[in-house]
Amino acid sequence: MRILLIEDERPIARGIQSSLEQSGMSVDMVHDGVFAEQALAQHSHDLIILDLGLPGIDGMTLLSRFRKTNQVTPVIILTARDELHDRVQGLNNGADDYILKPFEPAELEARINAILRRKGAASEQMRPEVLLGGMRLSGVDQRIFHDNKPLELSPREFAVLEMLLVRHGRVVSKAQVQDHLTRSGRDLGDTAIEVYVHRVRKKIEHCRVEIVTVRGFGYLLQEIRPTPEPVVVAPTAE
Ligand code: CA
Repeated sequence: MRILLIEDERPIARGIQSSLEQSGMSVDMVHDGVFAEQALAQHSHDLIILDLGLPGIDGMTLLSRFRKTNQVTPVIILTARDELHDRVQGLNNGADDYILKPFEPAELEARINAILRRKGAASEQMRPEVLLGGMRLSGVDQRIFHDNKPLELSPREFAVLEMLLVRHGRVVSKAQVQDHLTRSGRDLGDTAIEVYVHRVRKKIEHCRVEIVTVRGFGYLLQEIRPTPEPVVVAPTAE
């Protein structure tokens, strides 16, 4: 369970981090909207905790930009008690829940667990686990594992690999990949698709599956099978 915590008040941020870490979650912190946007684009997290009043880019702008490219990762916003308008706007912009400051760490943890249970139940129904050559797509936590180690993928890289994994052994056309990616964001050209496929290839170099380009058609994910050792037949005594 990896959480991104975006909160500019460092003592509050450290308090949340240490209490969640005690419960076995791993928490990355950023204290500024600009760094937050980079972290959101570069890493995938299971859940985001977002303070609304931030230097650089404010929380509401971050949230609406993030939701244009990622519809899946749950977001909890932190708001002050008198900011009813912000709460409503936050939920309209795609936050999953909000919590009023000041709050007890136990309350935050309970909200996190409730959201993840909800999301987990919904995505498990939608996405069964898929297995191929040691690679596993987990619908519950929206991650792809290889030999039980999670692969570090950006949301778009995840979307590419997820699609190929669900349809493994079949050719997926570039147009289908394009459709799948643009459903959650702006239009992407052919070159962009090639770039994402290239990045995913790099990230799965160590895995026992590979993305094969089928010229003129698209891509195919398949298991790499070891070449069988030549069978040596011992000469039999006459
Ligand atoms: Ca703040």
